Amino acid sequence: MRIVLIGAPGAGKGVYAQYFREKYCIPHISTGDIFREEIAKGTELGLRVKQYVERGLLVPDEIVINIVKEKLKQPNMQRGFILDGFPRTLVQAKALDEITRIDIAIHLLVSEEVAVKRLSGRRVCPKCGRVYNIYYEPKPREDEKCDYDGVQLIQRQDDNPEVVKQRYRVFYETLTPVLEYYTSTRRLLEVNADKSLSEILPLLEKILVDIGVLKLNPCKDVKID
Ligand code: AMP
Repeated sequence: MRIVLIGAPGAGKGVYAQYFREKYCIPHISTGDIFREEIAKGTELGLRVKQYVERGLLVPDEIVINIVKEKLKQPNMQRGFILDGFPRTLVQAKALDEITRIDIAIHLLVSEEVAVKRLSGRRVCPKCGRVYNIYYEPKPREDEKCDYDGVQLIQRQDDNPEVVKQRYRVFYETLTPVLEYYTSTRRLLEVNADKSLSEILPLLEKILVDIGVLKLNPCKDVKID
């Protein structure tokens, strides 16, 4: 199961990836998460990308491609992977096909209205990275605390309205050629991501099984990190 998830900010990419990660033990690679982690740790990479991420601009292709290339070499990628937030440009999409085989690109289509509400309600666990929403599923069981760690959830800095607007603009400017690329290579699946997760997930899983992309049994004791 080698999947690329494409969607505007607020489409729910992280939550879909999290579902497959927990049920099938498929690693979730989010380039946005990698950058935020490196920035928080103050590493050399973090310092290089900070200026782009904090302003909602795309990090240069060369930097992102190298990071993904290294990640995909790790042994835990044997079961497959879900790429979230990559590729964002045509150059990245073509580079990815040079690095590995991609089974399908899933485009999560979301309206602006739903996306804005989702982003304003999004909360993240600073310890394990799980994503919640105070308006939509998955809601934290207890008042803005992580279900797993009990840690106080936080709001991402780039979920503020100005940065969100910028991320939207950049997303739509660069996305079209990427979608065209996956359409022309017959690997694009479009999903209505305005609907709730409980409506969409069973349908998406069935489609992935029917087209032979999802062949795995739910995991039991597989370690993925
Ligand atoms: P995300 O969490 O996917 O919305 O990404 C947050 C930010 O990280 C983006 O606004 C970009 O600055 C940067 N970023 C993440 N993935 C990529 C990518 N594939 N190409 C360029 N920049 C990226």
